[in-house]
This record gives sequence, C-alpha cells and structure tokens, in this order.
Amino acid sequence: MPRADEKPSGTKATKYSPAKEGPFRCDLCLHYVVMKGQTLCKHSDVVADPEMEVINIDRRKYAKVEPGGCCEYQKKVKDLRDIPFGSVGL
Ligand code: SF4
Repeated sequence: MPRADEKPSGTKATKYSPAKEGPFRCDLCLHYVVMKGQTLCKHSDVVADPEMEVINIDRRKYAKVEPGGCCEYQKKVKDLRDIPFGSVGL
C-alpha cells in the first residue's frame, strides 16, 4: 500500500521520487498511464518538472515515471488500493 503519511523528497518542483526510495504507488494514481510500453504521468506539473524525462506520444507530453514512484500530486484511485503492486496497466 502507498505510504500516504510519508512525504517523498524527490525533485525540487514536484517531489517526484523513484521507486528505490519507496515503495510508493504511482500505479494507483489517477494521473498514471501506460502507453506504448512506457509507464507515464500525465499531470501537467509533473510534465513541466525540469528534472523529469518527458516524451511525446500522439502530440501530448508525458513524464516517464516508475510504477513504484510517487510525487506530491498523487491522487489515488480508491477502488484499486488492494490491487497488487505492478499489476495495473502492464
Ligand atoms: S504520483 Fe505523481 S508522478 Fe506518480 S502518476 Fe501520480 S501525479 Fe504522476
């Protein structure tokens, strides 16, 4: 389960933290998407974070994230909280 009580350190702008600092749960976030084999974030502030790697898919920008990452904008999908880690969208 996500550790909701913890504040990821992470990047300066959005506090995105990689999985190695977790475990966190980008994969349970409303902003998480999987497209073309990539695990991505569509949140505009994360995409604009200068420390994030951004890719274009179909003329939209997405930030590359890990399923076990997290940031300060995480919005959990309540109904999926009990789904095992790594099983969403892959
Ligand atoms: S937790 Fe943050 S980085 Fe991860 S998908 Fe959600 S908004 Fe994006």
